[in-house]
Amino acid sequence: MKVFDQIKSRGHEQVTYFHDPLTNLKAIVAIHSTVLGPSLGGCRMMKYESDDLALIDVLRLSKGMTYKAAISNLKLGGGKSVIIGDPRKTKSRDLLESFGSFIEGLNGRYITAEDMGTTVQDMEIIKNKTDYVTGMSELKGGSGDPSNFTSYGTYIGIKAAVSYKLKKDNLDGLSIFVQGLGSVGEKLISYLSKHDIKIYIDDIDKNKIESCVFKYNAIDVSDKDIYSLDVDIYSPCAIGATINDSSINKLKCKIVAGAANNILDNYDKHGKLLFKKGILYAPDYVINAGGLINIYNELGDYDKNSVFSQVDNIYDTLMDVFYKADELGLPTNIISDMIAEEKIKKEKFKLDSGIKV
Ligand code: NAD
Repeated sequence: MKVFDQIKSRGHEQVTYFHDPLTNLKAIVAIHSTVLGPSLGGCRMMKYESDDLALIDVLRLSKGMTYKAAISNLKLGGGKSVIIGDPRKTKSRDLLESFGSFIEGLNGRYITAEDMGTTVQDMEIIKNKTDYVTGMSELKGGSGDPSNFTSYGTYIGIKAAVSYKLKKDNLDGLSIFVQGLGSVGEKLISYLSKHDIKIYIDDIDKNKIESCVFKYNAIDVSDKDIYSLDVDIYSPCAIGATINDSSINKLKCKIVAGAANNILDNYDKHGKLLFKKGILYAPDYVINAGGLINIYNELGDYDKNSVFSQVDNIYDTLMDVFYKADELGLPTNIISDMIAEEKIKKEKFKLDSGIKV
């Protein structure tokens, strides 16, 4: 693979490979942008089929972090790291500490956090070697599980989409399909259940379905053709790429708004198709930014109430995206990219020309 072509095409500032023969650590840190602040993004540990696939993953994910931070008005850039290896087999205290030492060597250009294959406890081990880590447990002075804020932000985002598309200032009388009842999905349902809204649910874990049926009176649709459901809102909170060539023609919903990352299988094509079909799409990295907003706050004086009010801003950010999309006749995902890029461009101009605000 032509590594520099890959880096150049996505506009990365820096990509660093780490190897420690003693612990067999193989890691890549991708710093996409530090224009708005230090790059922040989780550390994913996975058994990649090839080093090239690990590189592609970290490049893609780190760019997404730049956009998420920018549109959420955080003084953060975008970065991400991957550790290549099966977390269940090759993760060790020594390996994590070695990773922490490498991160320390980047002098704060990259701040790490938990992601798929790593845990809050792993971050606490990494913290032995570097302060450039966030997302600690409450016991260690951190803020704990970020999914509380991701689910709250998703709930606020759903309200914004309903207000814009259905001209309603509450969720009463509506119906929603929530796919995925994990950390985010279940908490989202607990917010939704305060309204008179029909909640349809699906998960690959039958126990989670049973529990949500019991707790929230939700309706199990796991045996139905879920993408054809006649609901107002589809809220993907499980896996990515659920808006794809097969599902898009079945959709009867008016809104797609959920926390899952990379909802659109083909970013341009499926964003455009949703727009053409008149289905309002709340871009994933805008609506699911609550967790990032939370760990960003951990870097300063943490105040939970202030974090919740910052997450409330997701409402206005999405409204802005929706209005501009209609005004310019462009899909919402393209509009959110444009807004994020504009913020970065302005800041870069200020930095390059020495303008201080
Ligand atoms: P999780 O692992 O806790 O929950 C995911 C749930 O989805 C599980 O219950 C799992 O059984 C279910 N699931 C998996 N495949 C499924 C399928 N094909 N159909 C139905 N259900 C399926 O994850 P989470 O933390 O709740 O995150 C959910 C989504 O939101 C993910 O895409 C994640 O990347 C994204 N996200 C999460 C956060 C956060 O703060 N946790 C932040 C931003 C984005």
